[in-house]
Amino acid sequence: MSEIRCIFCTELKQKVEFNVEHVFPEGIGGHLTINRVCTDCNSKLGSKVDHHLTNHFFIDLFRKDNGIYGKTGKLPPVYTHGVLTDDPDQKIHIITDPNGEVERIKLLTKKEIIPGEDGMEIVRITGDGYDETAHLQTVNKVLKRNNLPEMSMEEFHSKLKSEILGPEIKVTFKKDIDLFDYIRALAKIAYELTWRWLGDSYLNDPQAVVIRDFIWNGKHNGKYPFIKYAGFTPTKVQLNAAQHQGLLEIRKDQIRCSVLISNIFIGDFQMSFSPQLYRPGFSLAAVINDAVKGEIFEEKGSLD
Ligand SMILES: [Zn+2]
Repeated sequence: MSEIRCIFCTELKQKVEFNVEHVFPEGIGGHLTINRVCTDCNSKLGSKVDHHLTNHFFIDLFRKDNGIYGKTGKLPPVYTHGVLTDDPDQKIHIITDPNGEVERIKLLTKKEIIPGEDGMEIVRITGDGYDETAHLQTVNKVLKRNNLPEMSMEEFHSKLKSEILGPEIKVTFKKDIDLFDYIRALAKIAYELTWRWLGDSYLNDPQAVVIRDFIWNGKHNGKYPFIKYAGFTPTKVQLNAAQHQGLLEIRKDQIRCSVLISNIFIGDFQMSFSPQLYRPGFSLAAVINDAVKGEIFEEKGSLD
């Protein structure tokens, strides 16, 4: 049986040890696939690298705006937590439906101990109207701890005070905004495209070794001169928000690959300093992956 090299661990493997790899991750509407990433690398890269891009807060916004349900079949919620404006100690949870739309606001349980008369303590539990059983359990725990008889649901109802809180809420973003790790995922896309267009000899390029190391192990404090620009797209870039794009340029002294993810992220990388090693018959290659329509346009050509 013939063996082929995985483009990430570069080990020779049997054909059965490979599975389909989406160049632009499937979760963000990627449709361009390659079949030269071994199952081991595929799963490690998914959890170590791709997720920094696919779970990025800005990608949540992109998926929600463009209705990209991805592998989960759900649109991500943009806000999940917050507090009441009138009472910043009262936390809320925003419950969303599979379309990422707000279904309802849920109060999280808040327990306060207020000094009462004659050295007594008043325990006040504020919580969501939907969670009556849970509240009764909390109340009974407090009663039990103080050697007092537990309450039935009926008694609980008779002592319950309902009020409508709010209505204003202050929401917090779902997560912190990652400023670096997603760049490894952009470099991974650039690496896969470069290999796709230059062929297997690229795997031995000294720069390919450096880039593979960055993809697997890149750290926030590292210095990576081959990253010419990586970050949020400059306002000049005008691209259909539903499209991801890759561009390879073979120049006299270097090979550059730039990757655009929607109109959000851009990464421009020096993929090789040995362009003379490659004579692919083109000097430019480009791909556009439409995340909504699922269409792929791929083109190769030369300027001269
Ligand atoms: Zn591998």
